[in-house]
Amino acid sequence: MSSLPLPTYADVQAAAARIDGYAHRTPVLTSRTANAELGAEVFFKCENLQRMGAFKFRGAYNALARFDEAQRRAGVVAFSSGNHAQAIALSARLMGIPATIVMPLDAPAAKVAATRGYGAEVVLYDRYKEDREEIGRNLAQQKGMTLIPPYDHADVIAGQGTAAKELFEEVGSLDSLFVCLGGGGLLSGSALSTRALSPHTRLYGVEPEAGNDGQQSFRSGSIVHIDTPQTIADGAQTQHLGNLTFPIIRRDVNDILTVSDAELRAAMRFFAERMKIVVEPTGCLGFAAARAMKQQLQGQRVGIILSGGNVDIARYAALLAE
Ligand SMILES: *Cc1c(COP(=O)(O)O)cnc(C)c1O
Repeated sequence: MSSLPLPTYADVQAAAARIDGYAHRTPVLTSRTANAELGAEVFFKCENLQRMGAFKFRGAYNALARFDEAQRRAGVVAFSSGNHAQAIALSARLMGIPATIVMPLDAPAAKVAATRGYGAEVVLYDRYKEDREEIGRNLAQQKGMTLIPPYDHADVIAGQGTAAKELFEEVGSLDSLFVCLGGGGLLSGSALSTRALSPHTRLYGVEPEAGNDGQQSFRSGSIVHIDTPQTIADGAQTQHLGNLTFPIIRRDVNDILTVSDAELRAAMRFFAERMKIVVEPTGCLGFAAARAMKQQLQGQRVGIILSGGNVDIARYAALLAE
């Protein structure tokens, strides 16, 4: 299928050394209520408590740490309205690298402000008339900047894999692991760590029902493209898997599951009420899926990656109340 060189677990190990001391080694939380509900022993890897509020800091920092002198001077460009933008902006600031982030004109003001707050230059574009990838590529060409995509990049994948690596190091082997899935950077990185550290774990990627391109791709054997899905899981509104993430997912993942927005809201409520933690809708994908298949998880040791906690507080309150 693909002849691209794929990242390996050795790359995850190298990434772990690079981010050491810069990224948080996030806590693993447990909940008796969750254990009782699932009839399993559940371990939550809390990337909602990662720097800038999501695992994306890991991949961004790892990618920027590999820049050579000329790349550092010219700077980095990224296109994103979400966590990848903030991850690149913060990592760049920590390393003194200039960053330009391409965001849609209608991106939430708070996100634009947060990205600027990390010192990045924000370039706005009209998402109905302009192509962000082309804008990013042009900036990269004209100014010699390096474009770092949100998931389809070997250093990004390797960095994202460090979260699952830490989880296995802390709790040992697991019977099942549930990972949120958008473009597949987190899932493919987690797959590399899983097959190295706990090879018999059943590894599941979880997508919003409205955007099950990953499930379709996994089952059909080639990358399926869809229109931007309507879902509250805004971190998983991707239209397709990547040329690097897909072959790893195909090789190392056991299945791709989907959950509804209602199940995501119920999981958000669980985290708020029972565990006193804020998890954004996309970060709830894994737990929502585990709840739905608890019959198969009886007596198991189950890992769940909570991918992020960035949600506008008014929106959070509205989602909890719905
Ligand atoms: C980006 C993101 C995802 C999806 O990650 P991919 O690597 O694109 O699959 C999931 N959750 C959160 C919070 C994110 O920011």
